[in-house]
Amino acid sequence: MINVIFLGPPGSGKGTQATILANNLEIPTISTGDALRREVENESEIGKMAKGYMTSGQLVPDEVVINIIKNRITQEDCSNGFIVDGFPRNISQAKSFDQMLKTVNRKIDIVFNFEVNDDILVKRISGRFSCKECGALYNRYFKTLKKEGVCDSCNSSQFLNRADDNENTVKSRLEVFHGFNGDLTKYYKKNNLLYSIDAVQSVPFVSERLIEISKKFLSLNNN
Ligand code: AMP
Repeated sequence: MINVIFLGPPGSGKGTQATILANNLEIPTISTGDALRREVENESEIGKMAKGYMTSGQLVPDEVVINIIKNRITQEDCSNGFIVDGFPRNISQAKSFDQMLKTVNRKIDIVFNFEVNDDILVKRISGRFSCKECGALYNRYFKTLKKEGVCDSCNSSQFLNRADDNENTVKSRLEVFHGFNGDLTKYYKKNNLLYSIDAVQSVPFVSERLIEISKKFLSLNNN
């Protein structure tokens, strides 16, 4: 069992690394951002409420994301652990998460803090797009398509940009991030759970470090 949190600004590679680490450890990834985008797409009550916050780069109310997480971590596929990407975003969410885990006899084992400076982030975010069919992630500056207009993984020619990946929203999202992340990292550092990750490094370099730390935890804890 290994329960992992990914902290880091938008564009720091958390989504890409979560997929790689989740495959390696055979545990699911839970992304509150992805879950909320699905709600918006389905035009559900939650989606309608969350949309305004998301397009302006603000946080949606805590109780909404806490409920999403609560419902998700108790599902069968999380029995060997999970990677949470995009949650918690503030101390109140972190404390609720700890309490929630306590009631099901679980705890957070590792918190990876992805570190990248803002200049690189803006380029990473404004350049990113994904395949509409299979969800493969690309970036027009850093990870281009092998063949123009065709997905490397599934050959689809349809791609998506996130609505909140525009320059104005990115600025608010970074401001919100910087407003809360210092307290969050302090909180987890105090509990000896925090690992700093130099997320400017290449995708394979970063994933190797994440896998190494996670595997070490698992071997020391007889899992
Ligand atoms: P992300 O995909 O993690 O960058 O999240 C996209 C947007 O979803 C954020 O800008 C917030 O509006 C919302 N969101 C995602 N996770 C949370 C969270 N834990 N708390 C509040 N809002 C969130």
